[in-house]
Amino acid sequence: MTWTSKSFLKWSAQRLAQAGIDSPRLESEVLLARGLHASREDLYRDPDRELGEEEIVISKSFVERRFLREPVAYILGRREFWGLEFQVTPDVMVPREETEILIEQFFQWVRSESFSEQIHVLDMGTGSGNIAIVVAKELPQSRVTAVDISPSALAIAQGNAWVHEVADRIRFVEGDLFACDLETPFHAILSNPPYIEEEHMDSLMPDVKNYEPGQALFGGRDGLSYYKRILPEAWSHLAENGVLFLEIGNGQVNDVLSLIENHGGYHAPEVTLDYMAMERVVSARKREKNG
Ligand code: GLN
Repeated sequence: MTWTSKSFLKWSAQRLAQAGIDSPRLESEVLLARGLHASREDLYRDPDRELGEEEIVISKSFVERRFLREPVAYILGRREFWGLEFQVTPDVMVPREETEILIEQFFQWVRSESFSEQIHVLDMGTGSGNIAIVVAKELPQSRVTAVDISPSALAIAQGNAWVHEVADRIRFVEGDLFACDLETPFHAILSNPPYIEEEHMDSLMPDVKNYEPGQALFGGRDGLSYYKRILPEAWSHLAENGVLFLEIGNGQVNDVLSLIENHGGYHAPEVTLDYMAMERVVSARKREKNG
């Protein structure tokens, strides 16, 4: 049987719909385009293009992987974030659009401070390196440190930094949060820590639960264990008036704000909503404890 782009897309969209995928047609186009080393526009331009044998085998394998709910980003081996392409493998969490808000808040702070000196920034739990790399790319006067506990994640992040030509301004450090060799103090600390409650594991989409690294997702029983550790440690690694920017999970805002208040070393907490109007980012400034 001969397959054309059009007939392949029809089959693929049905297959992915069967698997309960939300946008079966769109994802089919993305996967087939990759299988043909073409763009989605190319598929529309020439819907009757006959597919070669190898193209069929490869494109079908992409569709079958997606049918089993493997994230598209892992199938393609890449994901766009902040308009840049990041290599991703199952060693790292797939960067999410919401995390751009964390970075935007940080840039807003940088502008409001009209920084002229070098900015020293820490990305705690860098994963694919997305936060560290965007910061280094957008702020030529920044020096960034990126920490992760996973050596394989750091290898991916370093590769991404190299591709985006900022490897010389990012220091990659393997460590369990702050238990590593850090050149302090930092003007800003950014983190999108694991924050999913362990007991919610079963209700997660299979795409996440079965494929993304648990180490990057789960924040202990209550989802707050990393915030509890990061708040005091970040305080001692921040410069005076330095700011901590944290991404948070749905429904965590009050808990995180109380943790900040109870710590006592921060002031001026701010909350920012995401595109779905959920509280997504909390920031707070360091104040000297007895000041
Ligand atoms: N910093 C990465 C991101 O925001 C990884 C976060 C994580 O692994 N928890 O996508």
